Amino acid sequence: MHKIFIGLGSNLKNPQQKIKSAIQLIQEIDTVNLISQSSLYETPPIGFIDQPHFINAVIEISSPINFSDLLVNLLRVEEDFGRIRMQKNGPRTLDLDILLFDDLVLNSQTLTIPHPRMHERLFVLIPLLEISPLLSMPNHGSISTLIANLPTQDIKRIDS
Ligand code: ADP
Ligand code: MG
Repeated sequence: MHKIFIGLGSNLKNPQQKIKSAIQLIQEIDTVNLISQSSLYETPPIGFIDQPHFINAVIEISSPINFSDLLVNLLRVEEDFGRIRMQKNGPRTLDLDILLFDDLVLNSQTLTIPHPRMHERLFVLIPLLEISPLLSMPNHGSISTLIANLPTQDIKRIDS
């Protein structure tokens, strides 16, 4: 049984509802059990700032699924949201990332685990800390230490 953490993000119409629906769909993937889910967090966009704020969350799941099949299923959920909510070729409304997969370190053409930028993103690390306070990541140490060493970012927990 694998211990897997997934990051969810959305910044288009009704992102809070999208994240909640996405968590529901991920639970419906065959063999996947939802272990815990973080609160939703709101973060101002970085880089291209003329766009709505992001809503982020993380979940922990447990499943015997292999990482390739998991990725295929997550991409399908991303696509489902694109089809339901957006016109053709519009921007994606939902981003699903495999953050951690046991202690696996993987660099393939299609998959990098741990997710290559998670250790510098408070909007990933803070929700991870919420659901798994003692968590650490391969090659980067404990989540709480990573958070302590990062510059402050404007990230707000949403009560829901
Ligand atoms: P990002 O999440 O970095 O903004 P995208 O979501 O646009 O980028 O990238 C999607 C592609 O990233 C997927 O098709 C997948 O092959 C690749 N990828 C590499 N590592 C991961 C990972 N850990 N989780 C999800 N997708 C990944
Ligand atoms: Mg992604």
